[in-house]
Amino acid sequence: MRGKIALITGASSGIGWATAEAFAAEGVQLILCGRRESRLKALQNLLKVPSHVLVFDVADKKAVFDQIHSLPKAFSSIDILINNAGNAHGLSPVHEADLRDWEAMIDSNVKGLMYVTKAVLPSMVERKSGHIINLGSIAAKEVYPNGSVYCSSKYAVDAFSQGLRIDLNPMGIKVSAIHPGLVDTEFSVVRFKGDQQKANRVYEGLKPLSAQDVADVICYMAKAPEHVNIADLLLLPNAQANTYVNHRKP
Ligand code: NAP
Repeated sequence: MRGKIALITGASSGIGWATAEAFAAEGVQLILCGRRESRLKALQNLLKVPSHVLVFDVADKKAVFDQIHSLPKAFSSIDILINNAGNAHGLSPVHEADLRDWEAMIDSNVKGLMYVTKAVLPSMVERKSGHIINLGSIAAKEVYPNGSVYCSSKYAVDAFSQGLRIDLNPMGIKVSAIHPGLVDTEFSVVRFKGDQQKANRVYEGLKPLSAQDVADVICYMAKAPEHVNIADLLLLPNAQANTYVNHRKP
């Protein structure tokens, strides 16, 4: 992977940050994206590979295309796209949920991921080469109570990944999706709007995946030989059997 260029959305935290570190260790040059510029700059200072920071909201269509199309020449031929930016907002039944939470999830997890893909693709198509890895979730495979719209957004990521794989098949561009279960990041703090205690309860009594665990697997997917595509991968902590069944110790 040495010398390749990867664009990672949501690099300011969690899985995106850990993936940037894992890729940097392999000598991959990085385009680090997110809304929190100070975090991205802090990450950039830690990394020992050439990198470029792009600050934009993936839900802002114009900003996505403007930023990606204005990349300096040295970073404009993207080899690997990690579509990671996204979050859950709220955990409520449909009849009680806040419409603003729904819009945030659909706009970032679905439309944002699609905009970034569309903005990056032309140069991959021209070169007939590239690898897109989308962050789905176990929520792309099973729907759980009070999560209907977050799950809908991740089912959409799953469907989009499958469709993209078909469309890009003649060009030899790889499309993969990784679907993690419980990962201990800022994800639950964001979902519960800063309520750290509520967030902690999600992981109580079990050992969740770390962001590094997920990053290691993303790295493995990205390093697979040219003729091998790990197309769809469910990654769970050992304590988790599915969205309902978790082995928690008292
Ligand atoms: P996290 O620590 O909260 O990180 C989320 C990242 O996404 C942040 O870097 C955030 O950056 C970025 N982001 C969110 N909305 C954005 C927007 N509108 N525009 C640009 N960037 C945005 O959570 P994480 O666990 O690493 O989540 C990463 C991905 O993994 C998400 O797609 C999530 O759905 C998925 N996932 C997580 C888990 C889990 O249990 N943690 C499980 C399965 C799948 P800024 O705030 O700086 O913009």
